[in-house]
Amino acid sequence: MDAQEPGRLTPALILFGAPGSGKGTQARLLRQQCLNGPHISTGDMLRQHIEARDLIGLDIEGRMRAGRLVSDELVNRLVEERIQQPDCRDGFILDGYPRTLNQAAVLRDFAAARGVDPYVVHLIVDYDKLVARLSGRRQCPVCGTLYSLSTNPPKVPGVCDLDGTALVTREDDREPVIRERLEQYELQTRPLLEYFQRVGVAMFEIQGAGATPDAIAKCICGKLAVSGRTVR
Ligand code: AMP
Repeated sequence: MDAQEPGRLTPALILFGAPGSGKGTQARLLRQQCLNGPHISTGDMLRQHIEARDLIGLDIEGRMRAGRLVSDELVNRLVEERIQQPDCRDGFILDGYPRTLNQAAVLRDFAAARGVDPYVVHLIVDYDKLVARLSGRRQCPVCGTLYSLSTNPPKVPGVCDLDGTALVTREDDREPVIRERLEQYELQTRPLLEYFQRVGVAMFEIQGAGATPDAIAKCICGKLAVSGRTVR
């Protein structure tokens, strides 16, 4: 981000919504359809530390398996490091961050200091649908592609369409953990909507269910195009 032209702001999309609202799927589709820049998922970053069994991974594993948030200090540091990489210069997509008021405030300070222009796309999905989606979700452990047993199954059951890897159920996509994650969202994350409004961050409200993921992405791109935020 350092080589950015003077006076030009770096657009940062905050994909906001409950677990299961489709943030990861939409991030991938929006990059194909209308936005530049990397997809930065804090959940994926944290899972990589767990897989690597490094010190961070060992420290956060218990909390993540239980569906609880990890410390603000850790995620703030990981995100700050990531968004200073050169590939974020023309924009980036945040998925799963910020999730607490502290994280939102840290991101806001960073954005103000570094010429970043954050805006929010809020994916709205009913509670019952979220539970159904999360419990039917499968993921490719290699390329990260997400499948849904009901709405978007793989062509061959249990196998990734793209690279043939056996699909897995995430540890935290099991029923009691799903409830905990949704509770954490209600308590810690949903209040950010009011915060964004109060501090004047632009927000786009999108129905995240009732249409195909592709149609939802087109709808988002349409709204962003009207506001001059798309690149193609
Ligand atoms: P996700 O893949 O976004 O659903 O995140 C999976 C898990 O990673 C969450 O349940 C948390 O334990 C942890 N996590 C991801 N992002 C954050 C964040 N911004 N703050 C705290 N914990 C996070």
